[in-house]
Amino acid sequence: MQNIVVTTSPVEAKQLEATYRVVRRSIDARQRDIKVNLTLLADDEGRYIPIDAPLPRYNEPHFKQVSTESPVVHIIGAGPAGLFAALNLLEHGIKPIIFERGKQVSERKRDIALLNRNEVFNPESNYCFGEGGAGTFSDGKLFSRSKKRGNMQRVMELFHHFGAADNVLYEAHAHIGSDKLPRIIQNMRECILAHGGEIHFEFRVESLEFRDPCPTILAIGHSAHDTYRMLAATGVAMEAKGFALGVRAEHPQALINKLFYHNQPQSVVNLLGNASYSLVTQVNGRGVYSFCMCPGGHIVPAGSDVDGCVVNGMSASHRNSPFANSGMVVELHPTGSAIEALDYQEYIEHLAKQHGGPNAQAPAQRMKDFVEGRCSASLPDCSYLPGLVSSRLDEWLPDPIGSSLRQGFRDFDRKYKGFLTNDAVVVGVESRSSSPIRIVRNTATMQSVSHEWLYPCGEGAGYAGGITSSALDGINAALKIAERYGKLL
Ligand SMILES: Cc1cc2nc3c(=O)[nH]c(=O)nc-3n(C[C@H](O)[C@H](O)[C@H](O)COP(=O)(O)OP(=O)(O)OC[C@H]3O[C@@H](n4cnc5c(N)ncnc54)[C@H](O)[C@@H]3O)c2cc1C
Repeated sequence: MQNIVVTTSPVEAKQLEATYRVVRRSIDARQRDIKVNLTLLADDEGRYIPIDAPLPRYNEPHFKQVSTESPVVHIIGAGPAGLFAALNLLEHGIKPIIFERGKQVSERKRDIALLNRNEVFNPESNYCFGEGGAGTFSDGKLFSRSKKRGNMQRVMELFHHFGAADNVLYEAHAHIGSDKLPRIIQNMRECILAHGGEIHFEFRVESLEFRDPCPTILAIGHSAHDTYRMLAATGVAMEAKGFALGVRAEHPQALINKLFYHNQPQSVVNLLGNASYSLVTQVNGRGVYSFCMCPGGHIVPAGSDVDGCVVNGMSASHRNSPFANSGMVVELHPTGSAIEALDYQEYIEHLAKQHGGPNAQAPAQRMKDFVEGRCSASLPDCSYLPGLVSSRLDEWLPDPIGSSLRQGFRDFDRKYKGFLTNDAVVVGVESRSSSPIRIVRNTATMQSVSHEWLYPCGEGAGYAGGITSSALDGINAALKIAERYGKLL
């Protein structure tokens, strides 16, 4: 097998995509004559692989029955890291017992609907907490920037095994979509239970005692601030790490299509799909960049704390809402302790809550008003269901966040004239794009440097970011434990 890159017109690209297996697709829209770069899968003789050819074969996972097995492994958190760790333990004949503070995915869906209608916010069942973790109602963009961490293909194979579409097996940047992920997560749970693993929902771990040696995989994600504080009080070694904070910006998708596709007619947009972007600039030596851009997406309330307001973005598999949103964040390099970094993140989230509404309404300002320091007398239509409250983000977002974002938007507008517009809105705050904390572990063994039976992993440990790298980190932690017990296959 080989990959062949073809640069072609939107029309021909559409035909190729409908006929052959495409590994990667990128749009070169630097000129008005837009080109599509397709990486096609081909056999050794260079013949493209038809889309309906038999799928690449992979080793189907073989999960063992572990109900009576000992020793067992405790896993805190049922996000991608915790679930993939559990699945890997099952493959090695080790019993996983998962503790998850949130609810099962179907009940969680109901809580999220209440949150979006501004009726009830459940601090234990929301976009961050519950079965599948932050990954369940996420965008489901499956890729990791790091190729060094291990067997990424295995993560894709497991997603496929549990119901993801065939393209996850060969596409470099597959997108599952928040409408499809819950079913896949549910299939994983059913498998874990059927093979004798345990999952305890609505079970928040509030303290840790290490009396009898029992490996504990700590896969808590980066939103469990109370758990971070408990770990710090227990003496678990942690340190502050660089993270990013800012706002979510939303434009009408038609405007983004116009800017990034040079006013092409709708017929060409239909061939290309809604435009997306990835923007980066430097302001006073500090990175300002777009993060997790969601074409045809929605802004969602992604906080886990009643006193804070946090937003994030996602899209359903068809990416067909009339809005385009993206995190716009500023790099921060904390110099104090881990808990001080957490305090700062919370301080900004609480500020956003004070300037938002009584429920999940988020503070917002038109983008140009934000940059030029004016109150927005009205706000544009927005995908954020709980609603927006007009607020002077330009006044209360502290520096360097506010000033860097203002300069960042000016820079982006220089490159894409019209990006900085009052048809766009900035919504506060995008504060959970990455963890401000690293739970320090031994690189070789993945054990906490302070607690040898503790295996911090996933996004909350500060060693992964995103669904696939967190899942992979969970698998790697499970492999270390299997090795410790002499159970490696
Ligand atoms: C709206 C949104 C969109 C996103 N879009 C994408 C995307 O398109 N692509 C991508 O790669 N990533 C995306 N992400 C990020 C991605 O979801 C996370 O990187 C990933 O889920 C991290 O996995 P994890 O298992 O480390 O942690 P999490 O998914 O955060 O899971 C941690 C779990 O631990 C549980 N927990 C925490 N504390 C305790 C405790 N004390 N006791 C018991 N249980 C506890 C939590 O309830 C949670 O279920 C998105 C996130 C959000 C919020």
